[in-house]
Amino acid sequence: MAVPARRTSKTRKRLRRTHYKLQVPGMSACPNCGELRKAHHVCPSCGYYGDKKVVKTK
Ligand SMILES: [Zn+2]
Repeated sequence: MAVPARRTSKTRKRLRRTHYKLQVPGMSACPNCGELRKAHHVCPSCGYYGDKKVVKTK
């Protein structure tokens, strides 16, 4: 089995990882209540998806 010839230095490791970072999920305002919700997801505050109520909420 192939094995790395040298230990990866802290700098090399960190430089490699500069490309992967957390991303903010795509958010948009709910057309029914105006609350921010994830795009293409049921609104967590009013239960609407598009113009239909699909989840029961209080
Ligand atoms: Zn809503």
